[in-house]
Amino acid sequence: MDFMLSDQDRQFRDHCRRFAQDILAPLAARYGETQDVPAELVAAMARAGLFTLLLPKELGGPGVRALPICLAREELAGVYCPADVTLAMQGLGGYPIYLAGSSAQQEKYLGPIGRGEMLASFALTEAGAGSDVNAMQSQAVERDGGFVLNGSKLFISNGYAAQFITTFVKTPQPGNPRAMSAFIVDKGTPGFKVARRLELIAPHDLTALEFKDCFLPRENLLGQVGQGFKIAMQTLEVLRMSVGAAAVGIGRAALAAALDYAQRRVQFGAPIADFQATQFKLAEMATELDAARALVYRAAIKKDGGLARAARDASMAKLYATEAAQRVVDQAVQIHGGVGLLKGSAVERLYREIRALRIYEGTSEIHKLIIARSLLAKA
Ligand SMILES: Cc1cc2nc3c(=O)[nH]c(=O)nc-3n(C[C@H](O)[C@H](O)[C@H](O)COP(=O)(O)OP(=O)(O)OC[C@H]3O[C@@H](n4cnc5c(N)ncnc54)[C@H](O)[C@@H]3O)c2cc1C
Repeated sequence: MDFMLSDQDRQFRDHCRRFAQDILAPLAARYGETQDVPAELVAAMARAGLFTLLLPKELGGPGVRALPICLAREELAGVYCPADVTLAMQGLGGYPIYLAGSSAQQEKYLGPIGRGEMLASFALTEAGAGSDVNAMQSQAVERDGGFVLNGSKLFISNGYAAQFITTFVKTPQPGNPRAMSAFIVDKGTPGFKVARRLELIAPHDLTALEFKDCFLPRENLLGQVGQGFKIAMQTLEVLRMSVGAAAVGIGRAALAAALDYAQRRVQFGAPIADFQATQFKLAEMATELDAARALVYRAAIKKDGGLARAARDASMAKLYATEAAQRVVDQAVQIHGGVGLLKGSAVERLYREIRALRIYEGTSEIHKLIIARSLLAKA
């Protein structure tokens, strides 16, 4: 698939691959599965320049492009989940500031994100508002030159470790009761707290947040009142296909483990890799992963080039890659037999980790709706 990449993108991908092998894998072995975001991990990612991907050119970065984010996530995700989630959350929390932030906001938050001095998070989902974002109940009302936030958020990644949360709430206006706005909420703001840490089948920093008469000065508003929905959707459109890239990374790790095991495991006097049934599985796994990667690259290249139907392609990439990677990991477990189910085996971890990717940043069903609507609009 390298033919789809420029020399510069290939070099960057190789840099990420070396980082994953030489630095990330030992960190993963040291810290293991964790709900925390180890400071040593953040420092290592910053030293490797990974967070500069979220820095616009005006602030000394390479400019924000979807393709390098995808290339990095594919390399990180199969090796250490907190690294992948942290890169994604820096993007999700930072991109709205890149899109709509004032120059003061960009300087205050994007520079530190790019240097790994600040961790970001992104809070859209609520208990009653998952796929149906507009059902959110959290509200901000204008008062005393600022806004008072009340409500709660659920399933917020890196919410515990982050220094600030880019938060979306309703700001009803006369004539537009459904208006939504985006705010930067700094950790430590009175009235804002992490209400709970949530336990996942594959742990990462996941939280429920609470806002109780939380006063935010006007300078914490991102863009204009009422622009929140657009900012959230534009952000998700850039990051969405990178979930597909992370899925490909997890699938790739599962395929590597399956190839290795199939050549070592002997039954009926021969390595199970000699049986055609195993070979067919391996062939299907590799083919599905290549197809998924091609869709991810296409979506990212089209998005970065501002080409037509980029949103539909992003949904196709996210949908196909996460569903395909789930099948690939499942087959890898099958090839490992009982060993694949033992706690501590690589494929057992990947089996738990891949599951969330079909749910977050739009479930598979929601992406099918987006794709179908786009097809029908053309018909
Ligand atoms: C590990 C993890 C991390 C997350 N991180 C974040 C984060 O950092 N920030 C954040 O804001 N959110 C985050 N989320 C939330 C995530 O985006 C939501 O879980 C997701 O949007 C789905 O919402 P829901 O869980 O409420 O499911 P629901 O919307 O209740 O959906 C339940 C089921 O109904 C289906 N369904 C819903 N509507 C339709 C429809 N119209 N047609 C067909 N089927 C439909 C869905 O596809 C799904 O199968 C995270 C979630 C997880 C699991």
